Amino acid sequence: MSATASPSPDQAATTTVAGSAGTDPATERRVPVVAIANQKGGVGKTTTSVATAVMLANRGVRVLLIDLDPQGNASSSLGVDKSSLVRTTYDLMIGRATAVDAARPSGRDGLEIVATSSSLAAAEIELVDFPDREHQLQRALAGIGDRFDLVLIDCPPSLGLLTVNAFTAAQSVLVPIQCEFLPLEGLSQLQRTIGQVRQHLNPELTITGVLMTMYDARTRLSAQVVEEVRRFYPKELFATVIPRSIRLAEAPSYGLSIAEYDPKSNGAVAYERLAAELAQRLALRVTR
Ligand code: ATP
Ligand code: MG
Repeated sequence: MSATASPSPDQAATTTVAGSAGTDPATERRVPVVAIANQKGGVGKTTTSVATAVMLANRGVRVLLIDLDPQGNASSSLGVDKSSLVRTTYDLMIGRATAVDAARPSGRDGLEIVATSSSLAAAEIELVDFPDREHQLQRALAGIGDRFDLVLIDCPPSLGLLTVNAFTAAQSVLVPIQCEFLPLEGLSQLQRTIGQVRQHLNPELTITGVLMTMYDARTRLSAQVVEEVRRFYPKELFATVIPRSIRLAEAPSYGLSIAEYDPKSNGAVAYERLAAELAQRLALRVTR
């Protein structure tokens, strides 16, 4: 897989990404913050978050992955021992820790994670009494510019307060869509939520990209679904399509990303391409 076409180092170094919420004082470098979201369950949000995070870290991008799903799948997919956690996404959401405080090593160079515990499920209820409940995650991202080049947020399968916090903190959304019948059902609701967040909470929120996942080359349906989605998202659709791959499904149970579990598999190659496309869209500086 060839290195991604990134902007020239000078260009990348001076690029400020509009609307990034991972900023604080005027002096702080702006860092792209991307929410990986779709309220539909099982479409590949976590697989995409983990694979992209590891691959970009391998290419010299300092990545922070925030596991914002009470299921904690991103944390376990990376082999994080949940019993050893001191600070988690829950602490970010209730204002008890910043992301910089809560980030812990993932065991991979260049990748840290704010892991989750099941208490995160309670945050959604506790936050109802917070006056500024939609901005909790945004606030917790203060200071990240000194330590990271990219923040990825793995969202839960809902459009509740956790996801709204992600949309308020992020500059953009990456939407994985499974290649299956009626893919656009439900997306109008996602679009509505993004529109509402844009109107009231974060005017600069955009869709960075739409990613087709679990493509099955043996069926006509997969190709038809991609074309249908392309009609709706001609600019946003990534050129890379992720194939259905048993290796992708196996990797999490070993606590490994696909880049580590089977780097030559077609799923790994596809996610490498996606990581390159994403780096280009976000003007990330890729050094290897
Ligand atoms: P949830 O909504 O529950 O958080 P999700 O959108 O994060 O789900 P994943 O957990 O990434 O989705 O994927 C759902 C299941 O499908 C997992 O078991 C995962 O290993 C598997 N899977 C993901 N992508 C692929 C793929 N391209 N090919 C085969 N299996 C896949
Ligand atoms: Mg998930």
